[in-house]
Amino acid sequence: MAVIEVEGLVKRYGALTAVDGLDLSVARGETLALLGPNGAGKTTTVECLEGYRRPDEGRVRVLGLDPIADARELSPRIGLMLQEGGLYPHVRPAEILHTFAAFHDDPEDPDALLTSLGLDDVRDARYRSLSGGQKQRLALALALVGRPEVLFLDEPTAGLDPVARRTTWELLAERTRGGTTILLTTHLLDEAAAVADRVAIIDRGRLRLLGTPAELTAGGDGSVTVRIDPTPDAAMLAARLAAHLGVEVRPEAGDRLRIAALATPTLLTALAGFLTAHGGDLADLRASGRTLEEVYLRLVDDPELQRSTAVVA
Ligand code: ATP
Repeated sequence: MAVIEVEGLVKRYGALTAVDGLDLSVARGETLALLGPNGAGKTTTVECLEGYRRPDEGRVRVLGLDPIADARELSPRIGLMLQEGGLYPHVRPAEILHTFAAFHDDPEDPDALLTSLGLDDVRDARYRSLSGGQKQRLALALALVGRPEVLFLDEPTAGLDPVARRTTWELLAERTRGGTTILLTTHLLDEAAAVADRVAIIDRGRLRLLGTPAELTAGGDGSVTVRIDPTPDAAMLAARLAAHLGVEVRPEAGDRLRIAALATPTLLTALAGFLTAHGGDLADLRASGRTLEEVYLRLVDDPELQRSTAVVA
């Protein structure tokens, strides 16, 4: 049985249809990332699952329960992290986390959570004096402390520095190994690719694409992209590399060169030969496939694709 089920969800705000017939399901222990442009309907979808908003049409279930009718039974089993922390300015992280822990039968150790989220130094500081990233980490600790079976995370790493972001991903991965199911929204495509088992791209309230990161980024043109440092003149470098390899090489954004060939041992040997002969370091090499960012931008930028029915991997 799916832990999170969304069937034909429609949610309107007056004349605006924010969610327009959405179907999704998330299995136990799975992490699903919801991606989409601002205003796509991600938060509204999550809020319907959290029981904050009543669907106008369709059906949502979490752990087989109705988030509104069964709120009392459901709420101890889910962990929420909202976009704005919304805590009273005078509370202190350790105090509030211990208080939240006391609501649960088998909570995580609040002090260990503070340590793993790097909040030891501010455990007794006032909430209002915390930095944005510290507030964000406290919100995550509050979501995790009750050992929830399901976690709803709205942009969990927005505003976090790269180290804190990675720590967060690791904490979440530990929880999913223990069977926790996660639905998260994010604008960070690297985050979706790194943490999600499946990614759902929604736009104007509809599902546009659904699949594993590998499925969504597969089916590239079989080419290789490289970045060679230094690249004083990408067009010149591309021409020299093309002459050396005997295949077409095109400069792309970010000093990248796209080599129109498969990453065979012969090609890679020739590439190494070029670097030896002409100097330069291989700063990056990517064989075939597309990045999630390329898939996403193509989808949201392409009016033709936008008109077509949802492409579901
Ligand atoms: P973001 O990436 O910016 O967080 P989102 O995908 O989470 O966006 P939602 O917050 O679900 O998008 O908003 C979907 C649409 O519904 C937007 O056009 C938004 O302006 C509108 N909307 C959201 N909440 C309300 C509300 N309470 N009243 C009226 N309109 C709303």
